Amino acid sequence: MHKQRTSRREFVKSSAVGLVAAAVGGEPQSVVRSGRGNRTLLKGGIVLTLDRNIGDFENADVLIEGKKIIAVQPNLKADAQVIDASGMIVMPGFIDTHHHQYETVLRSILADGLLTGPKSYNSEIQAILTPAYRPEDAQISELVASLSQINAGVTTGVDTSQVSHTPEHTDACIDGLAKAGRRTLFAYSQGVGPGVKYPQDIRRLRTQYFSSDDQLLTLAMGGGPDANVWRLAREVGAPIVNHIVGNAAALEQLGAAKMMGPDNEYIHCVRLTEAAWKFIADTGGKVSIATAIEMQMRHGMPPIQTALDHGVRPSLSVDVETNMAADMFTVMRATFTLHRTLLNERALAGEQNIPPLLSCRQVLEMATINGARDSHLDHKVGTLTPGKEADIIMLRTDVINVTPLNNAPGAVVTLMDTSNVDTVFIAGKLMKRGGKLLGVDLPRIRRTVEASRDAVLRRAGYTRNLFGSCCMPGS
Ligand SMILES: [Zn+2]
Repeated sequence: MHKQRTSRREFVKSSAVGLVAAAVGGEPQSVVRSGRGNRTLLKGGIVLTLDRNIGDFENADVLIEGKKIIAVQPNLKADAQVIDASGMIVMPGFIDTHHHQYETVLRSILADGLLTGPKSYNSEIQAILTPAYRPEDAQISELVASLSQINAGVTTGVDTSQVSHTPEHTDACIDGLAKAGRRTLFAYSQGVGPGVKYPQDIRRLRTQYFSSDDQLLTLAMGGGPDANVWRLAREVGAPIVNHIVGNAAALEQLGAAKMMGPDNEYIHCVRLTEAAWKFIADTGGKVSIATAIEMQMRHGMPPIQTALDHGVRPSLSVDVETNMAADMFTVMRATFTLHRTLLNERALAGEQNIPPLLSCRQVLEMATINGARDSHLDHKVGTLTPGKEADIIMLRTDVINVTPLNNAPGAVVTLMDTSNVDTVFIAGKLMKRGGKLLGVDLPRIRRTVEASRDAVLRRAGYTRNLFGSCCMPGS
């Protein structure tokens, strides 16, 4: 592997900077924000607040002031910029609680691949391609992943980019996330090579980028069940995001040592023991299920019912775009149908007293408020509750794949896709309107991301297979 250090200043000057420049001070935002006390009124929508105390409205208005929601009710009168929400479902933005955003230049490169074994995620993505990343590749990947998810209505993500080969790589990740303008919990994770400063560099990150929690980017420690890493995370006040793929023994040890707590998010939680599940549940642990990826890549059975059996309400995550789409419609449908498949089989086999089937509303909660809680952001987002920040999506129901609308949660979970995402606000700022991302120079982004992809593959000595299989198991 050829090593070259590119200073942060150099790559910030080149590549991705400027790709979203117009989004910062562009016309559409200033129109909404001009005058009228910085207020926007979303008028006449079908409102799913996902807040059980507020409920739903067949026809209501949502009033935003600055970055906050200040009222949700029918027939609001306000001196505000009005956005017509008729024919739209107005709801909180989706929240994805685990996503390796640095892999975006490698989209679908491993679509046929498994997690382990020959020609797998571990052998190809982790061992060959990831080490070939330079900071600018991490930066453009982070930016495109975030913009793509904004386009899909995912207003908050938990980024678990395991590409911190050097502090410059980490800085590049944060820079890409910041330029996209999305809400993200950055779970600082390990990279590879002699320049790795994980985990101790998290002290610098805390002071340099994350001294305030009152910003779109917040800090977590990414890793696994490791007592030393957990201690350091707690020393700097960062929650912990852990990959848990069958390593129950390590988790049980931490549980026995009373180190597990509500600041822990556990991803996957496949092939765990009853003892490990009890520790998670009893200590207020958060569980993120990457349903589609776990099924596709042989992680193990997504533990949807197991989590519910232990009183844990899981959130959902997209994990890796090397293998699967990063929109929440895909993950919600995978979760809804898998859970039913498993329980339906038990019912058809004559089993009595099977657990209740998941409803579409429960799946929507997993993709919104449960995700907010698991990202430690439920005081800010996850429901349309006055006082929370305005991370809001408007989904079209008057279009060919949904009309006529008969059930709102059902339409979102069983019918819709990214094409229905008309409008997206993050912290009161308009990011997408009329089905178009605002202030994004897509041709320039494409050139940059393709050049980055070419450079990563070239450095790794890797040839993409455009028509055949990258990696069928056994081939
Ligand atoms: Zn992961």
